[in-house]
Amino acid sequence: MALFVVTIDGPAASGKSTVARRLASRIGATFLDTGAMYRAVTFAAMQDGVDLKDESQLIGVIGRHTFGFEPGDDAMRVFVDGQLVTDRIRSPELTANVRCVASSPPMRARLVQMQRQFGRRWGRVVTEGRDQGTVVFPDAGVKFYLVADSRERARRRQLELESQGVEADLDELHRAIESRDRSDESRAVGPLKPAPDAICVDTTRMTIEEVVECLLRHINRRQNANRVL
Ligand code: C5P
Repeated sequence: MALFVVTIDGPAASGKSTVARRLASRIGATFLDTGAMYRAVTFAAMQDGVDLKDESQLIGVIGRHTFGFEPGDDAMRVFVDGQLVTDRIRSPELTANVRCVASSPPMRARLVQMQRQFGRRWGRVVTEGRDQGTVVFPDAGVKFYLVADSRERARRRQLELESQGVEADLDELHRAIESRDRSDESRAVGPLKPAPDAICVDTTRMTIEEVVECLLRHINRRQNANRVL
């Protein structure tokens, strides 16, 4: 099957996951949540009790564990050593630690391999992350870059946590999101930035459904244009 990839990159809490999941189901593609892959490796590293700032210790983690990523009804299902950890990789403590894995070039190289493998396995994929259009799938059919005001992103994260019965302080969430943005934008390898050919969409004042419809219009337009060429 020819590979057809749609990439969605952007900062934390810009709505990428929900949009990518719904878009994938609308176009009959498989959803790939690459943040969940970084989280799974961080989970294994924390379980091993390695020093996350020590790259030589981190590298051993991928070899010691098996990682599985399977399409699920809602979120992508994540397995570490056969154990389902989809929910456990979302804790604030783990979220704060992901940057150690994300800023390590050899760890990124391995994760990029896993992401391309996933693409080859499923053939038709909507993938979301930070470097999908720039590094992992530079030849993707359509590339998007979602942005939103950081205060609005903090408010969305707060609503999401509230729906899970977790109370969180808006200012604290805002600070954590801005700190993660800085770390994602400033790393040497696979930094957060739009691909030159990405379509940028500011979702600050849009609902999830509006964003999905907007992306679908771009995909249809691109496919019609390719048919005519
Ligand atoms: O998207 P999510 O918030 O789950 O991602 C968690 C972290 O994983 C991000 O803050 C980022 O540091 C890292 N990440 C990355 N490259 C990706 C996806 C996620 O560096 N493609």
